[in-house]
Amino acid sequence: MFYNVSKEDEYLFQGKRKRLVEILKTKGIKNEKVLSAIEKIPRHLFFDTTTARPALLDHAYSDKALPIGAGQTISQPYTVAFQTEQLDLKPGEKVLEIGTGCGYQTAVLLEVGAKVYSIERQKTLFDKTKLFLPYIGYGGAKLVYGDGYKGMPQFAPYDKIIVTAGAPYIPNDLLIQLKIGGILLIPLGEGETQEMVWLKKMSETNFDKKILGNFKFVPLLQNKSGN
Ligand code: SAH
Repeated sequence: MFYNVSKEDEYLFQGKRKRLVEILKTKGIKNEKVLSAIEKIPRHLFFDTTTARPALLDHAYSDKALPIGAGQTISQPYTVAFQTEQLDLKPGEKVLEIGTGCGYQTAVLLEVGAKVYSIERQKTLFDKTKLFLPYIGYGGAKLVYGDGYKGMPQFAPYDKIIVTAGAPYIPNDLLIQLKIGGILLIPLGEGETQEMVWLKKMSETNFDKKILGNFKFVPLLQNKSGN
């Protein structure tokens, strides 16, 4: 099902990752842990390698969002780096990720030392990623097939919540499941681009809010997909 990791992850890819890290630095990413996670994780293994493999591999380390199957995308490396940096993670913090997809962001969160809980609504993607992440050494996340609008109440509260799909509004369940002092990052908007909203929970009812620029995400859809 998957390509052999050690054989595929050759010097060529390591060199490409170093160049990607340089690009991310020029775009403003400073967090050393985030940069070394990106330098380490074999992003080229996260694609839907059953289709268009050579074309995709050529682009695996360009700073672009790319298809991962089931009509979904792997987020642009800059977006992954930016969101992870903005979470301001301390070692061992609990992070809830909405939209596991191929698991690249999940791997970055694990690599920077977070305790990760991640939800995916597409069953085929979920099944694939659940097998794939442990296969490449990132078996530490709790992965759940479900609807991210509802969060993951069974393991709440979370220090940080990261939404990796564009939402039409901020789901109330996510606000409830965030610890006081915790941060929620969510791309908001239903158009071509979304505004990255940063919220800090100051009390059960008060939130500090910042807008951190425009990004492009696939939509956060309601309910589980069923396949
Ligand atoms: N974190 C991924 C991003 C994948 S794209 C990465 O590292 O590349 C966003 C993902 O969110 C898709 O896989 C999509 O199926 C999923 N998604 C969309 N709506 C969702 C919802 N309501 N609950 C959970 N996942 C959702």
